[in-house]
Amino acid sequence: MIEAQNLIGGQEVTTSQRMEVFSPSRPDEVIGHIPQSIGVEVDLAVQAARDALRAWKQLGPMGRSSLMFQAAAILEQRVDELAQLASQEMGKPIGEARGEALRAVAILRYYAGQGAYPVGDVIPAANATTLQYTTREPLGVVGIITPWNFPLAIPMWKVAPALIYGNTVVIKPAELSSLTAYRMFSLIQGLFPPGVLNVVIGRGAEAGAALVQHPGIRGISFTGSSQVGQGIARAAADRGVKYQLEMGGKNAVIVADDANIEQAVELVVSGAMRSAGQKCTATSRVIVLDGIHHAFREALTKRVKSLAVGDPLDANTYLGPVVSASQQKRVYTFIEHAQREGYAAVTGGQLLDRPGYFIAPTVFDEVRPDAEIAQEEVFGPVVAIIPAATLDEAITITNGVRYGLSASVFTRNLTTALKMVDELEVGMVRVNEETAGVEYQAPFGGMKASSSHSREQGLAAREFYTETKTVAIRAM
Ligand code: NAD
Repeated sequence: MIEAQNLIGGQEVTTSQRMEVFSPSRPDEVIGHIPQSIGVEVDLAVQAARDALRAWKQLGPMGRSSLMFQAAAILEQRVDELAQLASQEMGKPIGEARGEALRAVAILRYYAGQGAYPVGDVIPAANATTLQYTTREPLGVVGIITPWNFPLAIPMWKVAPALIYGNTVVIKPAELSSLTAYRMFSLIQGLFPPGVLNVVIGRGAEAGAALVQHPGIRGISFTGSSQVGQGIARAAADRGVKYQLEMGGKNAVIVADDANIEQAVELVVSGAMRSAGQKCTATSRVIVLDGIHHAFREALTKRVKSLAVGDPLDANTYLGPVVSASQQKRVYTFIEHAQREGYAAVTGGQLLDRPGYFIAPTVFDEVRPDAEIAQEEVFGPVVAIIPAATLDEAITITNGVRYGLSASVFTRNLTTALKMVDELEVGMVRVNEETAGVEYQAPFGGMKASSSHSREQGLAAREFYTETKTVAIRAM
């Protein structure tokens, strides 16, 4: 049983109202409690972060880097514990959760390393004795709001760059993964000066909204649903606060006639079914060229039928439950709508008859591009096969949704691959790779309604968490 608290100004701070946390694979068992913070706790955290800002900036990038490397070493020792907790709390299979915990450590090290990297340019000045250069300034106190589907990696890929570039942080993790976030940050928070890294746990509409509205926040980084993201964009724009949003996806794989079917099937299954389809980069549509449609569908169906669905803590499990009762209901409603529209699932299509929020991995075939199941983000273990007669038609279908996060193409033909790279309206194009599984050292983000036209991770994070200052110094 974990009793999570807020972490504010280096102290554990509790609230009178607390919420119970249940495991999605054993919904009868309470596994911990989390605070239900409101504006008061957000005020305290923002104040603590403001008080810590000056000294944190003055410590300099090398000093900050050293503390962050120490934090990474501590977390590395606790990878198994963090993975176990994440798996229990939000249902991700243990192997994937372990991979995510290792990823969080690697991200922290990557950004710690950035402390030793150059940050600006020397630019010629009109006067030959003037030294003109750029440097980077932190934004100030940054508010971070994260979803439940990557309970370790997403908080870390926002917090780590914020810290290395000299910002102080108030993070509000998702209600459904706050035990994990609390555990991770409580292990390292004491390394930093009090107030540098604050965690406030509570509901989105209360603690989250209070953070977004807080006048002491100079930047907001959000990952979550489009609906909440758009509200945050409006609130931030009203106050002239820098913001960054990563939101939904409706990611497609295109399987060309010359694809390696075995490879395409394995990576479609991985993209669609790992984490029970609850990734913003999950494969949700497979657009298959007519010549390969039948063979691909048969191979995909066979593989999906063979997947081990079960307890996420069992190392043999391929996919566990979805995160909550309401998520299960939402996903199943999409399945029912598709069935009502006349699509029969070639496999799956029902809930599993066992305790926990399990959904059978589901494949629909012969789906029209305008069907609800082909347009809306499902965020569950469901994939729609959409036939296409030509590559151009496949491109039109891929681009015919409001999102533009990730897309893959399976082909042996370089010309086809390059055509896709050129024409797909997505932030990440992948050839003979799954739509998910992107890497932390490369820019991450989408086009259209998937992002706020900004990128996270890699060096792209520096663009968000800093502002450029241009300096001119003239010799006397
Ligand atoms: P959500 O939008 O409901 O919640 C995300 C976070 O926002 C949570 O911490 C929540 O408490 C908070 N929140 C909710 N209402 C708020 C409000 N009014 N003001 C401020 N904060 C508020 O999303 P979710 O259900 O946790 O996550 C699933 C969604 O996240 C999916 O749509 C998925 O595509 C998206 N997602 C996107 C990416 C990406 O990088 N593009 C990554 C993971 C998840």
